[in-house]
Amino acid sequence: MRITDIRETTVPLEGDIANALVNFREHTISLVAVVTDVMRGSQPVVGYAFNSIGRFAQGGILRDRVMPRLRAAKPQELLNAAGDAFDPAAVLRVAMRNEKPGGHGDRAGAVAAIELACWDVNAKLADEPACATIARHYGRKPAEAVPVYAAGGYYYPGDSVGRLADELRRYRDQGFTAYKIKIGGAPLAEDMARIEAALNVAGAGDRLAVDANGRFDLTTATAYGRAMAPFGLRWYEEPGDPLDYGLNARLIAAGSGPVATGENLFSLQDARNLLAFGGMRPGIDIFQMDPGLSYGLGEYVCMLAAMEAAGFSRAQAHPHGGHLINLHIAAGLGLGGCEAYPGVFQPFGGYGPACVLGDGLVMPSDAPGWGLEEKPELRDALGRLA
Ligand code: MG
Repeated sequence: MRITDIRETTVPLEGDIANALVNFREHTISLVAVVTDVMRGSQPVVGYAFNSIGRFAQGGILRDRVMPRLRAAKPQELLNAAGDAFDPAAVLRVAMRNEKPGGHGDRAGAVAAIELACWDVNAKLADEPACATIARHYGRKPAEAVPVYAAGGYYYPGDSVGRLADELRRYRDQGFTAYKIKIGGAPLAEDMARIEAALNVAGAGDRLAVDANGRFDLTTATAYGRAMAPFGLRWYEEPGDPLDYGLNARLIAAGSGPVATGENLFSLQDARNLLAFGGMRPGIDIFQMDPGLSYGLGEYVCMLAAMEAAGFSRAQAHPHGGHLINLHIAAGLGLGGCEAYPGVFQPFGGYGPACVLGDGLVMPSDAPGWGLEEKPELRDALGRLA
């Protein structure tokens, strides 16, 4: 097998929504295709994937650095020992040739998109969903269904508490039983009213998480934590700057409820630093590292190993990014769950119609690979790449 072409297209995110710091109107994603010379019927086997949602496309890094290295590699340099599938670790090594350690930045997402597309190829070669390929590769059995929560509750222009409750009711009607909403984009009193409205739909504190998107200093994070304590919420996400492990540790040491963080980490070393200095508690706090932001699945699995070596459980891992790729990763690796964006971040957010959702669980379909071809919203973008 060899790569005959690698392509990238930049896809804008749809919607005009915001969290405490960021409006997503200008955000884009790199959708990539790895085209092989293996034919199925009259069509070549093509792997598709994309980098992390809620950021920017990486076409420049891909075209200038990553794709030329892969095109220049000998075919066998990228394959497993049997030569019948990609070795994603080898693909990563070639993609990272001549790159210094550290200073990860946007290249971690660019490389992730390519590495994840190679997993899509491998699953399609085996004619099975990606979760089955991933589970077998790592000596596991894929989960039949994955606990899922609906991430939404953004600040819309002309936002109202009523609109937030309506949004969560729609998710409930779709089969979700847990939710996440944004905080920190309004004064504390207004945010508490939003939380109370959301709790009315969620029914219990452990069914509702809140996300500050790294906005608060320690004083504000602590004030929010105190105000929210009576609600017994599912988790308090990114209270402070994602790299301020000291703030995270101090908030936790002061007796915070469950804290979730990690979605803005780029590498295994970042995750090790969080484990060493972030004050995270086994059995309580939540890790949200995102394979699409951090060099792909292989690096993510190393992060899980570091977590487990430090006494944490992979049930505490809930990757950022509510889409098909992370659904298959959560199912294949037996993670605690995943998020879904049923109403936002189109065309990538949420799942295809063949994924069964009910009672707070979602089941991947039997489509080979990540199943991106089954998602109607992605059809145009995939068509542009084909
Ligand atoms: Mg978040």
